[in-house]
Amino acid sequence: MRFEGRTAVVTGGAQGIGAATAALLREQGAEVVVLDLKGGDGVVACDVTDRAQVDEVFAGIGRIDILVNNAGITRDNLLFKMPFDEWQAVLNTNLTSMFLCCQAAQKVMVPARYGRIVNLSSRSALGNRGQVNYAAAKAGVQGLTATLAIELGPYDITVNAVAPGYIATPMTAATAERVGSTAEEHQAMVAERTPLRRVGQPEEVAAVIAFLASDEASYVSGQTLYVNGGAR
Ligand code: NDP
Repeated sequence: MRFEGRTAVVTGGAQGIGAATAALLREQGAEVVVLDLKGGDGVVACDVTDRAQVDEVFAGIGRIDILVNNAGITRDNLLFKMPFDEWQAVLNTNLTSMFLCCQAAQKVMVPARYGRIVNLSSRSALGNRGQVNYAAAKAGVQGLTATLAIELGPYDITVNAVAPGYIATPMTAATAERVGSTAEEHQAMVAERTPLRRVGQPEEVAAVIAFLASDEASYVSGQTLYVNGGAR
């Protein structure tokens, strides 16, 4: 019960990595507020790209000890074919949303002199064909993380990022469908070139997020931890 008495916010937590993280934090004692585009069924509706919605929802939550910035989308295309709105949507959802949520959360974390922020980056931050928007956003997440660790450290707020490789979620299932494969075929292809010879599961990322959100990681800040099955 390492999160007893803690309140956590998980963005994009209705499915995939966010849902696994919310479940784990809750299992270990946290009060978890899940935000996602569609509300209902224990999920609070909040589009994290919308400043007014973020400010209103975060103000309504009050105390926040842990913030997991997990909401993300992909809109893959080669540079010459990428519409400008796909560039903007991916930057807004994967990067600008973190600026908005961190800004809203620090309003309560700084006076409380406590906070744990974990941001979802990606292995794609190192470069990935067809993902100029996503790679740029996820590399930006690492810069945002390193900088906020410096700015918020004096208030006992740690800020870290997790950079997963290929994880079996609705996001990667949608990628498989787009390239004309089943989720299983696509996973098998990725598994072959991954040292651990399999793709990751949402729970394996959630465990790392929970570590960084816990007091066991109290002297870890400004880091990006790759959860990538050993792939380069
Ligand atoms: P999913 O697509 O399965 O889940 C993401 C959730 O975020 C969805 O419920 C989605 O809602 C929600 N969301 C999207 N846009 C917004 C928004 N503007 N406001 C609030 N919620 C929103 O993704 P994963 O679980 O696979 O990924 C989680 C995070 O991990 C993402 O940041 C992703 O980039 C990152 N990641 C994932 C990897 C993977 O292999 N799966 C690898 C590396 C990083 P809706 O479904 O309605 O759009």
